[in-house]
Amino acid sequence: MKKRWDKIRYQLKSMRAQLFTVIFLVGLIPVILFSIIFIRTYNGQTISQRNDEVKSYGNVLSNLVLSSGYLFGKDSTEVEKEAAEIAGVYQGRVMIMDQNLKVVKDTYDMEDGNTVISTEVIQCFSDKNAFFTNEIGDYIQLAMPIADTSTENVIGAILISYSTKNLHLLEESINYRTLLLILAIAICILVISMFYSYIVSRPLQKVTDSIDDITRGETDVTMKLNTYSELKKISESFNQMTGYIHEQDTARKDFVSNVSHELKTPLASMKVLSDSLLSQDGMPEELYKEFLVDITHEIERMTKIINDLLTMVKLDKNSAKMQVESVNVNELLESLLKRLRPLAQKRNIELTLESFRPVVAEIDDVKISIALNNLIENAIKYNYDDGWVRVSLNADHKFFYVKIQDSGVGIPEDVQDKIYDRFYRVDKARSRETGGTGLGLALTRGVILLHRGSIKLYSKEKEGTTFTLRIPLNYIVTENVGS
Ligand code: ADP
Repeated sequence: MKKRWDKIRYQLKSMRAQLFTVIFLVGLIPVILFSIIFIRTYNGQTISQRNDEVKSYGNVLSNLVLSSGYLFGKDSTEVEKEAAEIAGVYQGRVMIMDQNLKVVKDTYDMEDGNTVISTEVIQCFSDKNAFFTNEIGDYIQLAMPIADTSTENVIGAILISYSTKNLHLLEESINYRTLLLILAIAICILVISMFYSYIVSRPLQKVTDSIDDITRGETDVTMKLNTYSELKKISESFNQMTGYIHEQDTARKDFVSNVSHELKTPLASMKVLSDSLLSQDGMPEELYKEFLVDITHEIERMTKIINDLLTMVKLDKNSAKMQVESVNVNELLESLLKRLRPLAQKRNIELTLESFRPVVAEIDDVKISIALNNLIENAIKYNYDDGWVRVSLNADHKFFYVKIQDSGVGIPEDVQDKIYDRFYRVDKARSRETGGTGLGLALTRGVILLHRGSIKLYSKEKEGTTFTLRIPLNYIVTENVGS
């Protein structure tokens, strides 16, 4: 029962029901009002028109009575003919009375010579221009004075009763037709409003369906609503949102499959190595050692991948929580270079730092250290023996700039926009040799974006690479900016 009520309440509150009601009422109420006004005016007018007609006939009769001296006993066929004609045309009765209210002519020939006292007739004697009507059932009584034109005295009165039955029949038939018309219009408006409210509310059902699809886990959902500009905008925004969700979902799936693949590779190598150790008895100790070194190498690689992944997760999680403080960037770079120098020296790579001015910036030094370390380490890793790596630091009143230049292998132009992708490596084999995971630049870019900075790359194959960072000196606090 409650469910049924809820359903009814839902239906009543629905946009469709309300739209339907509004259109229906807005369409129907004016039609009804107009019909009522029309009928009233029309009916009133037919009666008053009839009254005017009878009145003008009465005037003609009054003039005839006056000119013929009918009231004073003279015979007049004209008066009688006119009176009979009026009575005939309007299915009524005409009575002419003299000053003493004595009937001198009655078209019914019933009251001739009698005195008839009626309020309207008496009133006529007090006002020579007035005429009085009184509606009794299907009849109207019209009394008008006969005034002497020379003395202006009222010398008699005419009482005309005429039937309004025809008029009332006409009225009824008009009322009936109008009612039929209103009904027909009401049906039309009903159909139109039902149809229109359906058309308007149908796209909203589409919106709900699409949202339900997303809730069910489908991400490749597009909405196409072209009916109204507002809905078109909604569907555009919706498609943008689903596009973003779909992208994120695909990226997540790709990421998971990449991670699995990356972790599987060292595991597979380890399995091959240990299998071959197990399958041969009495292997020389050196061979054992050599295989174990390889296995350790693979373990280190896995550890590095996992560590990088953990750092990435931590960065994502803490993206809102930046530990910003004033940091001396010159010192930070010096200590980074000090740490990386042994790596460079191993291959006789010259590593230099050029500071153009002292720079103090509001940054998260742990995160920035990770980013800069990656860039400088890459510059060493992807370099030729006896090459060079130059790091420089500069600043203006708003930003500080770090440039990391190397004389290394360079990055082919066609893959330059891919190198920030997770697990992307230009040369997989070489990267494996150097212990690369393909996560470094993705991490670096994330960190730079968290600082509202930018990273630019200029590289030429076999000549070298330059990364330029531009980071605001003062940390700009804004709402979540994704990495
Ligand atoms: P990796 O762990 O493999 O170094 P990165 O994300 O740091 O991963 O770098 C992605 C790829 O970009 C590297 O595999 C390498 O091919 C290329 N790369 C990065 N920095 C340089 C550089 N300074 N010179 C040449 N290639 C580079």
